[in-house]
Amino acid sequence: MSYIEPAPIQDKNNPFESMMSRFDVAAQILGLDQETYNVLKNPARQVIVSLPVTMDDGMVKVFEGFRVIHSTILGPSKGGIRYDMAVNLDEVKALAAWMTWKCAVVDIPYGGAKGGIRCNPRTMSKGEIERLTRAYTLSMLDIFGPDRDIPAPDMGTGPNEMAWLMDEYSKSKGMTVNAVVTGKPLVLGGSLGRVEATGRGVMVTALSAMQKLRMNPSQSSCSIQGFGNVGSNTAKLLEERGVKVKAISDISGAYWNPKGIDISYALSYRDTHNGTLEGFDGGDKMEDPDGIITCEVDLLIPAAKEDVINIHNAPKIKAKLIVEGANGPTSASADDVINSKGIIVVPDILANAGGVTVSYFEWVQNRLGLRWPLERVNRRCDRIMKESFERVYAISKQYNISLRIAAYIVAIDKVSNTYKFRGGF
Ligand code: NAD
Repeated sequence: MSYIEPAPIQDKNNPFESMMSRFDVAAQILGLDQETYNVLKNPARQVIVSLPVTMDDGMVKVFEGFRVIHSTILGPSKGGIRYDMAVNLDEVKALAAWMTWKCAVVDIPYGGAKGGIRCNPRTMSKGEIERLTRAYTLSMLDIFGPDRDIPAPDMGTGPNEMAWLMDEYSKSKGMTVNAVVTGKPLVLGGSLGRVEATGRGVMVTALSAMQKLRMNPSQSSCSIQGFGNVGSNTAKLLEERGVKVKAISDISGAYWNPKGIDISYALSYRDTHNGTLEGFDGGDKMEDPDGIITCEVDLLIPAAKEDVINIHNAPKIKAKLIVEGANGPTSASADDVINSKGIIVVPDILANAGGVTVSYFEWVQNRLGLRWPLERVNRRCDRIMKESFERVYAISKQYNISLRIAAYIVAIDKVSNTYKFRGGF
């Protein structure tokens, strides 16, 4: 019996409340007790810092930085750092909680965290970004640690930022501590396969779902929103497996080619045009960028940002299957529309967990002081993603619920059981 009375959701488009509304449904089905519910709902720690940074013109600018530790029940907390002007505490809280559920779904021994700095890295010089990253690291010296809290890249950050973070942390400790952060450059102890890992996991879970739906990859088409790390690697890997990628998009717009976009060409175009698809000539530019969500394809992969599938465009979606490469791309208010249309959604906390899985492999390799070959990284990651998909799929059949709620059930069950064994705090 459950004795939870969830607070009414005030704003389903607030990312934290959107996450909690799914959490509440799963908690009700599991019959989670009130004490554990309260523990899992509230982040363990929320840190806000002001970071004065000297800019190239000599002026000092103060940036706001965040780190939220949602849970350390399963182990040290893990989660990326986002550099974006839209970063705010509610978003970081939601992303931190998603990390807890994600690590639990794929059964790796980490809790969940997330960090962010409100800034626009596209308008900053390399030196300014480096000074900002080092200032953030210094402000988090008592938070980060290879056994405490292990950051990684997210939107707007990559191997460079992780290298500066690792260097600053190591200097303050007086020794090299490469396991304090993952997503590092290979020469600093990064893992082979980490860059493609999230896209690879999206591809593996997409193929697993297609198999259940009896969709033949070589007779299926897809559209992918976002052509950054996750979107472009997913596109390449799905194309290699015969899926026709009919539409891709990025911040510059959406591009459509019914014969299939040549992904190798799109990659080289992006890499020679300042990292964007602006002016891409391998497809027709759609008049409405939202067409990437509603175009005529079998499989839709949002791989850019939150809340892009919402109450306004969900009724127009034609795809039978959605695989969430991004975190939180579907607002909670769109769930009912999608479910009533019979569209299957492989949720973010399962579909994009390949990244944190290989981050975990990176941390393991750093601690063992050795490097795994790419083939071993990919094989182990694929196995974890397939097994996790099957676990979630079985629960969705058992309770006759969506894969999303099933994934939350798997995650909450694991974290709450661990909490009970640890005996509370
Ligand atoms: P990225 O910065 O490499 O790429 C983001 C892409 O989205 C870019 O192509 C950008 O132009 C595009 N974009 C931004 N706004 C857009 C819009 N309004 N319409 C269309 N395209 C838009 O970021 P990423 O690392 O690929 O992350 C993408 C998403 O995946 C985020 O939600 C992130 O949290 C999630 N994610 C990333 C990883 C990872 O390992 N990188 C792991 C798990 C989840």
